[in-house]
Amino acid sequence: MTHDHSHGDDPHGHAHDHAHDHDHPHGSELSAVEARVRALESLLVEKGYVQPAALDALVEMYETEIGPHLGARVVARAWTDPAFRARLLAEATPAIAELGIGGRGGEHMVVVENTPETHNMVVCTLCSCYPWPVLGLPPVWYKAPPYRARAVSDPRGVLREFGVSIPETTRITVWDSTAETRFMVLPMRPAGTEGLPEEALAALVTRDAMIGTGLPLSPGAEIRS
Ligand code: FE
Repeated sequence: MTHDHSHGDDPHGHAHDHAHDHDHPHGSELSAVEARVRALESLLVEKGYVQPAALDALVEMYETEIGPHLGARVVARAWTDPAFRARLLAEATPAIAELGIGGRGGEHMVVVENTPETHNMVVCTLCSCYPWPVLGLPPVWYKAPPYRARAVSDPRGVLREFGVSIPETTRITVWDSTAETRFMVLPMRPAGTEGLPEEALAALVTRDAMIGTGLPLSPGAEIRS
């Protein structure tokens, strides 16, 4: 008998409670790389690029121009502009686009807000889905099996390893990213930042604070690059 594996079949038969609409295999570093290569390739085709130099430029862009500093601008705006914050939490993609930020992997953004009651943390349990337009390329640990498994089973333990201690009274909510929906955390504005301009606030917002595995820096502790 012939066996016609049409493209897009899930070879692993994931029993998972969210619609993880992927067509790449999961479970290895290679699959994450494959996913990235496929995304880059289709973008190149869309743009009509064929030159290897163009590919190099795109990789360079993701490594240098597109990064967490963009997400940090979104967070700082939300901290200083209540109307923007409301739009961001209601419908993140168009709100983020107001700052000229968006693109592949950020078409369906959801921003979740940390409060004294709830701390949010983002993972992709199946592979490495990540909000590229606001955070750039994912860190290696985000793609690694230990984080993907333990973020769900023991989020508080994972946070401890990141040096983050969340009060026992604060609930931890873990958001599982998919190819469709990418999450970003809106951290709480640190104390002592009253009156700081938006740009100074953005410098306090780390990548990990927007994944939920970190907290924003305190004023005076900015990392200068
Ligand atoms: Fe994924």
